[in-house]
Amino acid sequence: MNEGNSLTCLVCNGPVVIALTKKGNGLHFKCEKDGRHFRGFVMDKQYLQGVMRHAESLTE
Ligand SMILES: [Zn+2]
Repeated sequence: MNEGNSLTCLVCNGPVVIALTKKGNGLHFKCEKDGRHFRGFVMDKQYLQGVMRHAESLTE
């Protein structure tokens, strides 16, 4: 189930979904089953670019 860099919830071990914020300048992390389990926010530019590049390669 692990591809190396996929995130899992610390509580239920389920998938963590990543979504771009409305302003497009950050990323939200949230447990797919219950947002109260795990929630995060990242605004680091370099990290963002890396994630977006990864996402693009997945949608091809
Ligand atoms: Zn969870």
